[in-house]
Amino acid sequence: MTRHMVVAAHGEERVESVTVAARDADGRPAPGSERRLVCDVLAVGHGLLPHTDLAEGLGCRLDGTGVRVDDEQRTDVPGVWAAGETTGIGGAALSLAEGHIAGRSAAARLAGTAPDPRGWAPAARARTRLRAFFAALERAYGDPPARWPEQVGDDTVVCRCEEVTAGAVREAVGTLGAGDLRTVKLLTRAGMGWCQGRMCEPGVAGVAGCPLTPARRLLARPVPLGVLAAPTDPTTPR
Ligand SMILES: Cc1cc2nc3c(=O)[nH]c(=O)nc-3n(C[C@H](O)[C@H](O)[C@H](O)COP(=O)(O)OP(=O)(O)OC[C@H]3O[C@@H](n4cnc5c(N)ncnc54)[C@H](O)[C@@H]3O)c2cc1C
Repeated sequence: MTRHMVVAAHGEERVESVTVAARDADGRPAPGSERRLVCDVLAVGHGLLPHTDLAEGLGCRLDGTGVRVDDEQRTDVPGVWAAGETTGIGGAALSLAEGHIAGRSAAARLAGTAPDPRGWAPAARARTRLRAFFAALERAYGDPPARWPEQVGDDTVVCRCEEVTAGAVREAVGTLGAGDLRTVKLLTRAGMGWCQGRMCEPGVAGVAGCPLTPARRLLARPVPLGVLAAPTDPTTPR
């Protein structure tokens, strides 16, 4: 059923059926086109978003949804290279190719020399080919339907860690006057749980009608490789 969308899932203990509707020209469910279909599994996908929080915390700029890098995989922050999913979703082989280039570039640059791109020519060819393939895949996935927040009922949980509903987010914006994502978070706790907004932030932002904001606090600290490599004693608190 092309140009259709799932507008509701139904069930008590588990999903039992879904309501499917045709999409009108504006991306809304066409009135009267709803059909209920019995099912035992529902899978929904609207593309993939890279995790960029570490790089953004270091001040790296984004290009679209991924970290912006040059041909050597350097970000625009001196001394910071990025490779793999953080620069855009593209699968394991692309991550390896980018990591190979980033490693060679970093080794040369940190030794004070300019790297020779001929040393990573096969990886660069693989990178070009795979980026093109995944750009096509992303187009095929498609974005979420236009105006999707309108379809989200007030009782829908949008932040699963803190169990915050769309209704609570709307109340924070409409009644309490929150005008940005940070205030929504403070008023509702959306994004304050285990995932720290990594999963729910785009959804919460969509329902709130607020733009996504880059991570301002770096939730990370340097860990020496020796600490990771050291044998662990399970009785010692870490
Ligand atoms: C279910 C699933 C199936 C997949 N199947 C395929 C497949 O069939 N073929 C294919 O090519 N690709 C597949 N992929 C994609 C593939 O796994 C990725 O492309 C690849 O792992 C990306 O490598 P990476 O090193 O960039 O990121 P990752 O392998 O995700 O490594 C990033 C690491 O950074 C750590 N990290 C992230 N943020 C922080 C932080 N703030 N602080 C500290 N550490 C952090 C993470 O814990 C992780 O260990 C699949 C992915 C998933 C999730």
